[in-house]
Amino acid sequence: MPFNKKTILITILSILILGGLFCFVYFKKSVKIVSRNTEGVESVENDKNVQVVQATKSVDGDINNKKAKSVENVQNVEDVKDEKKVESDKTKMVSQNSVIDNSGEIKIKNKLVNWGFTESSGRKIDTIILHSSYDALGDNPYDLEGLIAEYKQYGVAPHYLIDRKGKVYRLVADKNIAWHAGAGQTPDGRKNVNNFSIGVEIMNTKTDNYTKKQYQATQDLIDYLKKKYKINYILGHNEIAPGRKTDPWNFEWDKIRK
Ligand SMILES: [Zn+2]
Repeated sequence: MPFNKKTILITILSILILGGLFCFVYFKKSVKIVSRNTEGVESVENDKNVQVVQATKSVDGDINNKKAKSVENVQNVEDVKDEKKVESDKTKMVSQNSVIDNSGEIKIKNKLVNWGFTESSGRKIDTIILHSSYDALGDNPYDLEGLIAEYKQYGVAPHYLIDRKGKVYRLVADKNIAWHAGAGQTPDGRKNVNNFSIGVEIMNTKTDNYTKKQYQATQDLIDYLKKKYKINYILGHNEIAPGRKTDPWNFEWDKIRK
C-alpha cells in the first residue's frame, strides 16, 4: 500500500493528539500533587497551631478548673470536717485541721477541746471579749500545748487563741458557750457575758508587748466575726470584770479598729 499524503497527515495528527492528551493528563496530575502537598502542609501546620492553642487553653483551663475544684473540694471537705468536729468534739479532744473559712480572709486552725464550754445552738452573739494569757507552768510562757493544758486544769477555754506569730486557733465553736469571762457585766448591764460573747485569748505575759502579727490577727478575727454577727461590744476582760481581772495586759487598743 503506497503512502499517500492523507495517510501521513492522519498519522502525524494522531501522534500530536495522543501526545497532547498524554501531556495534558500528566500536567494535570502533577498540578494536583503539588496543590495537595501545599494544602496538606498548610493544613497540618494549621492543625498543629490549633492543637497547640487548644492544648494550651485546655491545659490552663484544666489546671484552673482542677485548682478551683480542688479548692472547692478542700473547703467542702474541711467544712464537713469542721461540722463533724464541732459535733464530735467530746470524742476528739484536740483536732488539728486547718480551715480556710468561707470568708477567705482569715486562716483559722481548728484545735477543738472537750472542756470549758456548754453546748448550745442558736445563741445570739453580739460581744467580743479580749483576754491575754500565757503558760505559767512550763519553761516557755508561749508554749501552745502548755497554755491549752493550763486552760484544761482550770476547766476554761476561749473560742479563739492567737499565738505569738499571729496564728489563730479555734478551741470552741462559736455556737457553743465557752467559759472565758466569768462574773462580770457589759456596759448595758447584762450579766452572764459568756452566753452572748466570743472569747479571744491573745498570748502575752503581764510584762511583754503583743507582736505586730498578733495585732493584725486580732484585727482580722474581729473583722471576720463582725461579718458573721452584729457585734455591739468589743471589750477587754478588765472592762467587764473591773477589780477582778486585769487582762488583756498591755493591750494597745488604738492599734485595732473596733
Ligand atoms: Zn481574761
